[in-house]
Amino acid sequence: MFDDLSDLYQEVILDHCKHPRNFREMTAATCSAQGHNPLCGDQLKLYLTLDGDRIRDVSFVGSGCCISKASASLLTECVKGKTRAEVGKTFDQVREMVTTGKIEGDVGRLAVFAGVHKYPARVKCAILAWHALAAALNGQGQPVSTESEDI
Ligand code: ZN
Repeated sequence: MFDDLSDLYQEVILDHCKHPRNFREMTAATCSAQGHNPLCGDQLKLYLTLDGDRIRDVSFVGSGCCISKASASLLTECVKGKTRAEVGKTFDQVREMVTTGKIEGDVGRLAVFAGVHKYPARVKCAILAWHALAAALNGQGQPVSTESEDI
């Protein structure tokens, strides 16, 4: 898939792609948002249960390429328990990382996506779930498309 990503990173991405975490609908979600990346055909829906300002639970469903699924899966593991402000900061870090390859601060396992910046067509796959998360947190009813976002 990616010739010059390290084997470890590929392994993490493939694992989350084949066995996505928190891959389920959430009937009692506080909010949700759909994301669509028409360039690749990735579609997903992200669900959140909020406890005040904090994300108590998060899940997603959808279909798409390995990068988009792995990104959504790792997102759910990363943002559970975090506040809006913390998630906003992580979103900025992820956007910087997938567009430039630079890792600012501690992004944990999300660092597996740093190599995506070498594949411009895949950047939107990696960022799709994050835009859906932001849309859900902002309470936007409209589905988000990577084509209408300034990524
Ligand atoms: Zn994709």
